[in-house]
Amino acid sequence: KSYTPKVIDINYTEGSGDRKWSSTNFPWTKELEAKNRNKFGNRSFRPNQREIINATMSGYDVFVLMPTGGGKSLTYQLPALISAGLTLVVCPLVSLIQDQIMHLSQANIPATYLSGNLDWSEQQEILRDLELCRYKLLYVTPEKIARSGALSTVLGNLNKQGHLSRIVIDEAHCVSQWGHDFRPDYKSLGVLKQNFPKTPVLALTATATAWVKEDVVQALALENCIVFKQSFNRPNLRYYLRPKTKKCVEDIDLFIRTNHSKECGIIYCLSRMDCEKVAEKLRECGHKVSHYHGSMDPVDRTRIQELWSKDKINIICATVAFGMGINKPDVRFVIHHSLPKSIEGYHQECGRAGRDGQPSSCLLYYQYSDYIRVRHMITQGVAEQTGAPRDEQALKTHKDNLLRMVSYCENDVDCRRLLQLIHFGERFDPSLCAKTCDNCLKVSGWVEKDVTNIARQLVELVTRTGHSHSSTYILEVYRGSVSQNVKKQRHDALALHGAGKHLAKGEAARIMRHLVTEEILIEDVKKSDMYGSMSSVLKVNHLKASDLRSGKRNIVLKFPAHDKASKMGNLDASLFPQINKIVQQQNEVDENLASMLYKALLSL
Ligand code: ADP
Ligand code: MG
Ligand code: ZN
Repeated sequence: KSYTPKVIDINYTEGSGDRKWSSTNFPWTKELEAKNRNKFGNRSFRPNQREIINATMSGYDVFVLMPTGGGKSLTYQLPALISAGLTLVVCPLVSLIQDQIMHLSQANIPATYLSGNLDWSEQQEILRDLELCRYKLLYVTPEKIARSGALSTVLGNLNKQGHLSRIVIDEAHCVSQWGHDFRPDYKSLGVLKQNFPKTPVLALTATATAWVKEDVVQALALENCIVFKQSFNRPNLRYYLRPKTKKCVEDIDLFIRTNHSKECGIIYCLSRMDCEKVAEKLRECGHKVSHYHGSMDPVDRTRIQELWSKDKINIICATVAFGMGINKPDVRFVIHHSLPKSIEGYHQECGRAGRDGQPSSCLLYYQYSDYIRVRHMITQGVAEQTGAPRDEQALKTHKDNLLRMVSYCENDVDCRRLLQLIHFGERFDPSLCAKTCDNCLKVSGWVEKDVTNIARQLVELVTRTGHSHSSTYILEVYRGSVSQNVKKQRHDALALHGAGKHLAKGEAARIMRHLVTEEILIEDVKKSDMYGSMSSVLKVNHLKASDLRSGKRNIVLKFPAHDKASKMGNLDASLFPQINKIVQQQNEVDENLASMLYKALLSL
């Protein structure tokens, strides 16, 4: 296999600010609104749904970044209904497809699917019915696109007659090796645009990093697509990190009993063995719990997922194999028993809680030694995934992702929301968290700091190191690392080596991420070898950096202020959600009040 690196210039407008897509004067507006009410039973549209539908109905390629639970399905199901012809939907999992088809058939919308697990005659019948235009939606798994000649023929015929109205790529981040859930078969989806250049493509994902987006856009060849992006903040989720000790499972038991008794949740574990052990212990504590992982019989897996969906069991201890496409609206907690592999993955797994908008908890247990375990798994996994025995770049990417997750955990100062959102290139004012994360709970207020000088030094460092290093590397140099990696004698950045030594843990990283979100620094993605794997390199956007250099522009960031004699210091974190509930009901975010409530709770 040979690979020629090819960078396509992507010209997109960020659609969310564009008023024209919000118009209610499109020829299809009346039918759209009627069908939204009558067929789907929705009273209105959620943020961006109308805009996305208008853009895809206008024939544009559209890329949608919307958090889990935001309502992405409607943005292609409604257009499918009001367009002539067939909508092709590529979806990674059969379980997810079946769930969608069940919902569609309840609404009397003709939809079907093709996947490897149907027998030959069934598939033939479906293909025949497709040519007769009996369906509005066809769901397929990606390997069908890659390998089924019969399907290609049918799609080709439909297209010739003008009956292929739209192509949808759901969970589009699976295209990217950079995503947390890369699927090799997704890589071949670029052929769709080749074969059907005139058919609008709608790509949907809840994974928001800029580089995953660029990667997907390139792989699918979506030139000039319109990007709709919205905030990934989930105000109803509360984020807590706790140190992982030997008593972790006891702690989980107490947390659930105190805050989410009899409610429904997911506990993510690293290995199959962990799933079984944690489930076993919690069962002994009296919870209705089951385990779920990839090496179980598919029949058992489906059964367990069903029992859970119907509230016959409350808790599932699962590997990350469980979750994508899980539609249960009332998941009240997501607990990570060990370190997630990336911030994107973590955000998405947490996103399965509270889809109904009700308050829900995300609890993460962290110990440094899990980092070593996960890193080992990554080293093993990458070799299998890419088929390349030593794909150093892919490995480095995954290790970088993991390191970012570790620094998220090691950070005991900054707002968890802020840490997640700046990772997705989104601005967030941490005072809006209103003490709904463990770090903000410890904070007594906010101080604004002028970090212009530090920002200048970072920009300077990126320049002097020749625009050829990752942010991790730049930070290492800045913080004065003497690791092997930092070969400081090789460039003239010497004067800045260690210039940021005095900064608190995570502070330089925070400023760096801010510079990226402000587009003063640009995180450039490079395809770097024959396997098409990529690395990220920081560059300076000289246009925007010049004001910073000349002193025209200052950078001021909010940092948490710490009351040294904080009364919250020893507070039992398992009570945070409860306290929070009360504090928020009072519309007060006062630490002393919280502390008093805590004491009151203890004496109950
Ligand atoms: P996503 O794919 O973005 O994670 P889904 O498409 O599965 O989200 O939708 C999540 C839930 O929101 C579903 O239960 C869906 O019925 C509901 N939903 C979507 N759009 C609307 C709307 N306009 N009004 C009310 N509920 C909606
Ligand atoms: Mg979805
Ligand atoms: Zn916070």
